[in-house]
Amino acid sequence: MSEMINVAEVFGENVFNLAKMKERLPKKIYAEVKNVMENGGELSVSTADVVAKAMKDWAVSKGATHYTHWFQPLTGITAEKHDSFISAPDEMGNTLLEFSGKELIKGEPDASSFPSGGLRSTFEARGYTVWDCTSPAFLKEDATGVILCIPTAFCSYKGEALDKKTPLLRSMEAVSRQGLRIVKLFGNTEATRVIASVGPEQEYFLVDKEKYLQRKDLIYAGRTLFGAPAPKGQELEDQYFGAIRERVGAYMKELNVELWKLGITSKTQHNEVAPAQHEMAPIYGTANIAVDHNQLVMETMKKVAGHHGLTCLLHEKPFAGVNGSGKHNNWSLGTDNGVNLLDPGDTPNQNIQFLLVLACIIKAVDIHADLLRQSASDVGNDHRLGANEAPPAIISVFLGDQLEDVVRQLVETGEAARCIEGDRLQAGVSSLPSISKDATDRNRTSPFAFTGNKFEFRMVGSDDSIASPNTTLNAIVAEAFSEAADILEKAEDFDMAVHDLIKKYLAGHQRIIFNGNGYSEEWVKEAERRGLPNIKSMVEAVPTLVTDKSVALFEKFGIFTKAELESRAEVLYETYAKTINIEALTMIDMAGKQIIPAVVSYTTELASSVSAVKEACPEADASAQKELLIETSALLAEARKAFTALKAAVSEASAAEEGEAMAYAYKDKVVPAMEALRAPVDQLEMIVDKEYWPMPSYGDLMFEV
Ligand code: ADP
Ligand code: MG
Repeated sequence: MSEMINVAEVFGENVFNLAKMKERLPKKIYAEVKNVMENGGELSVSTADVVAKAMKDWAVSKGATHYTHWFQPLTGITAEKHDSFISAPDEMGNTLLEFSGKELIKGEPDASSFPSGGLRSTFEARGYTVWDCTSPAFLKEDATGVILCIPTAFCSYKGEALDKKTPLLRSMEAVSRQGLRIVKLFGNTEATRVIASVGPEQEYFLVDKEKYLQRKDLIYAGRTLFGAPAPKGQELEDQYFGAIRERVGAYMKELNVELWKLGITSKTQHNEVAPAQHEMAPIYGTANIAVDHNQLVMETMKKVAGHHGLTCLLHEKPFAGVNGSGKHNNWSLGTDNGVNLLDPGDTPNQNIQFLLVLACIIKAVDIHADLLRQSASDVGNDHRLGANEAPPAIISVFLGDQLEDVVRQLVETGEAARCIEGDRLQAGVSSLPSISKDATDRNRTSPFAFTGNKFEFRMVGSDDSIASPNTTLNAIVAEAFSEAADILEKAEDFDMAVHDLIKKYLAGHQRIIFNGNGYSEEWVKEAERRGLPNIKSMVEAVPTLVTDKSVALFEKFGIFTKAELESRAEVLYETYAKTINIEALTMIDMAGKQIIPAVVSYTTELASSVSAVKEACPEADASAQKELLIETSALLAEARKAFTALKAAVSEASAAEEGEAMAYAYKDKVVPAMEALRAPVDQLEMIVDKEYWPMPSYGDLMFEV
């Protein structure tokens, strides 16, 4: 029997949540904090002092020695700098543990080394971290001890956002303000906020740590840069939802406990499509908390793996030829008085507020398809979106039969009199209950699918922060809401005006709706005919950030200034070039120091075997050895040539002008040179004696976990 876990007790154990604040703060202070959390505003210094003390006392009682402002710079991961609670010793040599309101609210990390895309030159390096009191503080426990982590936003001296969280918070305010205007039009005057909610499904791979450590590509690049396919892949579909292996099960169990302690609602776990691939999904929550939690999920997944002799790979494409990993970003909007704006109800055709919201979202996604695609791009995701093995990078909206039918009626006649209803599902077995079916089947190939009461944005990469996709979603929908509200607030006949507007939006933007197979070749052609953008790579997506359309959108709602957008574009170009540079150098290292020497040894053995056989027995047939020697030598020569070409491509690209030119040099020159080196090496792996091959194979990595 394994040890019992008391989930209710463990849950939130390491979080300074409302329950703990209520218990530890004077009533008045608690009320003040809660008010700021819900309605914004600032805490007075004296209140902050009380909160800080309570927070510190709680943390220390749980063994904390340090605190940190925890933030999300543009590296895509989180950053922390620990300060211990100790104060300068008194004359007796004793120290007190201190933590003031000022230290809680504001921090000033020496932040000159974080990417800022030119926003902050080193001589004005000041960056501030500012407490995001809407996301609760928590304790991180690891070999460092127990650290009190305070979620913060990270800004420059001039207030420019240097992180992923600040724009997200700004976008949440924008969509809340504009969303409120919409619900007010429909008579909901009680609501004071519209809240963006997010539930990200996190995919990951687990491999044996010992084997991982034998692969420089996994160590430096997080993905395999060489590797012939294993004899078995995912073709039998026996991994998906399959029974979870013992070692992986033990990992998942510990992962859950660690996440629950952090108040993260780890809910679903299962094996995914590719061998060694798995998924965890939490229960959805407020967008900024969901973003924070997802960062912690990724970090915890990696940390816990080490306890089980495993390594967790979060890269979007650790292995060629089998599925990559994504992060389905489930997103919805709801009022603080409990109305989900994306809930169609049983008869969506009669739910005018829902239809208006839907029409606004369809319009927003059509107008800003390029931005949405950009928000899901990162270097690793280039292997998932628009690459040869992957679905195209075209944004379209899946609505399902029921809503598609309602939309068609509205566009054609301006009325939606009918609505397809879900009927009963009959399994044809008398002992099975008949259950009611959803009115809509699922579609697994759509990048942006309506799934009952939320949209599921499926393009997001497994390794990426979900801040950008959600910032973009909130922003584009805020814009559509604001434009609709501008018209409807002035309308003399509201019913007529809303009816006309829904029809206009749907008719004008129906090209973005696609219910078919998003992975098919025909769809690529059809999308082109419809004029939908097909942005094939991360680098090509960068300019979408700084178009007039994008600047107008983000500036209108104070989410990004033009300078902030330009800086982000710079950071993306830089990140791309740097990442591909690391990958290319890793390939050069592996090929030059491991693979080519191993193949040389193998050919030497073949050659001596040919002469040895000939010598021992002149009439013996040594043609097999000879053929193998010829084949191996030819591939070796090809690999060596490609190796030299890759080195040349890297030195050319690294000499290009930094920014866009360099990113393109890496994409157009270095990436093809990497592919050209990989091809003969993967063929060699299939014929060279395994004893000689200097690293574990795909089969070793994916099937022996
Ligand atoms: P799947 O799409 O794999 O069948 P689910 O439908 O259960 O899975 O949901 C996947 C994720 O979507 C979960 O994280 C869940 O909490 C989240 N989710 C469910 N409802 C909403 C909603 N209204 N808004 C945002 N996320 C939601
Ligand atoms: Mg899903």
